[in-house]
Amino acid sequence: VSIKVVVIEDEPSIADTIVYALKSENMESVWFSNGNDGLQYLLQNTFDCVLIDIGLPDISGFEICKKIRGNSSKPVIFLTARSEEIDKVVGLEIGADDYITKPFSPRELTARVKAILRRCGNSEEMVKSVTLINNASKKDQVFYIDDEVMQIFYFGQVVVLSKSEFKILEAMIKHPRRVFSREELSSFTSDEPGFSMERTIDAHIKSIRNKLKTIKGSIDPIETRRGFGYALKDMV
Ligand code: CA
Repeated sequence: VSIKVVVIEDEPSIADTIVYALKSENMESVWFSNGNDGLQYLLQNTFDCVLIDIGLPDISGFEICKKIRGNSSKPVIFLTARSEEIDKVVGLEIGADDYITKPFSPRELTARVKAILRRCGNSEEMVKSVTLINNASKKDQVFYIDDEVMQIFYFGQVVVLSKSEFKILEAMIKHPRRVFSREELSSFTSDEPGFSMERTIDAHIKSIRNKLKTIKGSIDPIETRRGFGYALKDMV
C-alpha cells in the first residue's frame, strides 16, 4: 500500500523537507520544480494528493489546479508564503482542499496531508494503514532513531542522552555488529582529544548502558570486545 503525493515546489530546500517528511510517514512522492512539468505529470499519471506552491516561476499554482480539476477530484493542497485572505478565497473557489502557509513544520504538513486524504473518503483504508505501518516500525524496533527531534527510542521509550552519548549510540545503531574502536567512537563526540580518550569513551559507554538498563534491565545490548572496542549486539 503506497500513497503517492505529487509535489510542485520551486524551492529545493522546501521540496526536500516535504519529500523527507512524506517518506518518514511511508508516503511516496514525486517532485517537480516547475509548474509545466508538474502539470503534464498530473494530467498523465495517477496520484493520491498534490501539493502545489502558488508562486512558481512559470505558471501559477492556481492555473495548475484549474487545469487538473477537469479530470481529477484528488485533493489539492496549496503551499503559500502569503497568508492573505484573497488567495484563500480564490483557491477554494477553483477547487483547492486546503492551504499550508510557509514556513510549516514537517509534522504539520504530514498531519494535514493525512487529514485531507481521510476527508476525501476513498483513501480511508490507505491512510489507516500508513499510520499503522509507521507506528509499528517505531514500536517493533529495539532501537529507533528519530532524526527530526534527535532522540533515540529503546523498546519504544526515549533514552535521555547527552550529545556525545547520542552520537556514539547512533553510530552503533546504524551499523549493528560492527566493532568500533574507542578512537573511532571518540570522533563522534565533542570531547577534547587527549590521553584520557579511552577512559572517556568507557565512561560514555557505561553511562549509555546504565540508561538502557533503566528501560530494560534484563538485556545489555552493547558488547565489549576486549582489545578492539564496542559493538551493538545483533538483536533482530
Ligand atoms: Ca515558490
